[in-house]
Amino acid sequence: MKSRSRNVIILIISLFCLGILIINFMPTLWFQRHLSKNWNIPDTGLNLEEFTRRPNRLCLIFAVDGVPFDIMKELYDEGYFKGFYKPGRLVSTFPSLTRPAFSKMLIGGKPFGYERLYFDRAANQINGFNLVKKLFSTEKEHQDYHPQLHFLGFPGYIAYVFPDKFTSAAIDGFKNKILNFKGNEFIAYMGLSDAIAHIRGRQAQKEFMKQISTLMDITRNELGILLDVIMFSDHANNYADNRRVNLVAALENGGFRDASQLNKPTDFVLPRNGFVSVAALYTHENNAGNIATILSPVEGVDFCAFIENQSVIVQGSAGYARISRRDNHYRYKAIWGDPLLLAKIVGRLQIEKSANDGDYFHADDWWHATKDHMYPAPLHRIWEGLHDLVQHPATLLISLKDGYAFGPAIFNQAIVGQRAGTHGALLDSHSNGFLMSDFMPVMAYNRPQTVANLLAGAAEAKLKGRKLWPFN
Ligand SMILES: [Zn+2]
Repeated sequence: MKSRSRNVIILIISLFCLGILIINFMPTLWFQRHLSKNWNIPDTGLNLEEFTRRPNRLCLIFAVDGVPFDIMKELYDEGYFKGFYKPGRLVSTFPSLTRPAFSKMLIGGKPFGYERLYFDRAANQINGFNLVKKLFSTEKEHQDYHPQLHFLGFPGYIAYVFPDKFTSAAIDGFKNKILNFKGNEFIAYMGLSDAIAHIRGRQAQKEFMKQISTLMDITRNELGILLDVIMFSDHANNYADNRRVNLVAALENGGFRDASQLNKPTDFVLPRNGFVSVAALYTHENNAGNIATILSPVEGVDFCAFIENQSVIVQGSAGYARISRRDNHYRYKAIWGDPLLLAKIVGRLQIEKSANDGDYFHADDWWHATKDHMYPAPLHRIWEGLHDLVQHPATLLISLKDGYAFGPAIFNQAIVGQRAGTHGALLDSHSNGFLMSDFMPVMAYNRPQTVANLLAGAAEAKLKGRKLWPFN
């Protein structure tokens, strides 16, 4: 008996030590593995002929996850990112999440879902995550992002638990890779900046971006050839102590059933991904109205959006409105209240644009009228989010108020639930990323399509041996 309890104590101590070891060394190992796995251009094996044809410029296309415009503006005003033109805002997709936003910008086509987990109607199951595959497979995820994209500093979910552990590995890894790079277009994705925002908050993310600024200076000095940089992010972060919204309890009280398949008429599927300010709900189409009515008064819910008779309904505690689209024109009709706070703007458009066709205004007119709104470019983004942003669009997108988030129940726990920021909602504080460059000025407000065009233009210019120019 005595020796048995001694063995148990030894086992506990060993497990504890193993845990410490894993926490301290795994991140670096993990990071290295992902870095080489996702590195699709070899560092060695370059023949001399190719080497002599090496151009004297390198274009760095740098996608930085989750960095808001405000932080870049502050850093720029404080003297960081020397040699760059001043940053502009880059209004994300809705939901303001990495997968759809970067897919759109980096010409990778539509991702399967808004986040990793999504519901596949045809297969009637939740897809997108397989732990065994995740841990042991070296296969790359296709469809998402650009095929030539180099992942930097994004060693998977573990970065969202211990972001600090990866900082120096990410910075050093980036420096080594770019300094030894032999091509002329280096497309990089840095995911760590988002993990830092979620876990450590605004100040930590700003400090990290200072390191990126230094990294840019060092790279430029040490590269030996000219460096052209286009840098942008996919969305912002709200830096609030976000409370978890309990959507499921409200729906169950309303007679619906939380399920992983759609079998009974009352079933809904709600994939739980990260802790974000949006939820994508899949259910039978005729449930959408009832579910929106149940969820609208729930604390933290800003609005629900769903398709009804070829229009989109926006329903929240602040009102009920219908969005219609014809060609490239949108109409916003508030039935009661004004859920997207557009009454004044509609009035202005009616005077300035003199709509002759029942208040349908061109998408570009809406863009200019709403790009600096609390809900930036709301009509197009909501429409796109429910129609063709992803391969498996939700029945309802639920956008949350600032300070609220949705995710797995584990986020109710104190330690795991400790979050310093999030994004996903339609709000500007969740949506406004940045775009900046050191070889061309950018607009004050930009759309993901601007970046897509810019990169397509960059690819075309490169093919034709031309220098890169803006495609605003
Ligand atoms: Zn994030």
